[in-house]
Amino acid sequence: MDAFNWKKDLQRDGPRVVFSGQPFAMHCHHYNINLQRTLEDTLGEEGVALLFRSAEEASFANFQYLLGQYGRLRTEKSKFEMASILFQNCGMGIIYFQQVDENGGVLVSPASHHVTGWLAKHGRRDTPGCHFTRGWIAGALEAIFGKSPGYYTVRETACKMARDPDCVFEVRPAG
Ligand SMILES: [Zn+2]
Repeated sequence: MDAFNWKKDLQRDGPRVVFSGQPFAMHCHHYNINLQRTLEDTLGEEGVALLFRSAEEASFANFQYLLGQYGRLRTEKSKFEMASILFQNCGMGIIYFQQVDENGGVLVSPASHHVTGWLAKHGRRDTPGCHFTRGWIAGALEAIFGKSPGYYTVRETACKMARDPDCVFEVRPAG
C-alpha cells in the first residue's frame, strides 16, 4: 500500500507526536484504565456512553482528516487496512475487519491495549469492557462510509476481559 506510509508521515514536532499533520495524545494503561474504571464506577451506563462517544468523535475526526490526506485510498479494503495499521501503530492492538460493508458487519480483536491493561490492573470482569474500541470502530466506519457520528451502534458480543478467546464487535446502523 504505497499510498500510505506510516514511517514517513510519523514525525516529532518538539514534544508533540504528529501523524500526517495531526497531533496524537498517548497515554499508558494506568491512565486509560483508571479513566474507564472511574467513569464506569461513578456514572454507570452514562459513563460508558461518554467513553464511547468521546472515542467515536475523536476517531471520526481523525479518519475524516486522514482520508482527505490520502485520496489515493479508494477501495474499502485499503481504507480498512489503513485503519488496522493506525490501530496497531497507536498501540491500541490488533483489529481485523471481517465482512464489513456500509450496512455494518463484524470486527475481531485478538489482542488489545485495553484488554491487557484491564486484566493487569483489575483481572477478569463479567461484562464486555472495550468501550473505547467500540467508539473507535464506530467513528472509523462513519468516516470511511461518509456517515455522521451516531450513525452506527457497536455491540461487543465477546470480550477477552471476560475470558472469551477474542473481542468480537457487531456493527449495525443505529436507525
Ligand atoms: Zn473486549
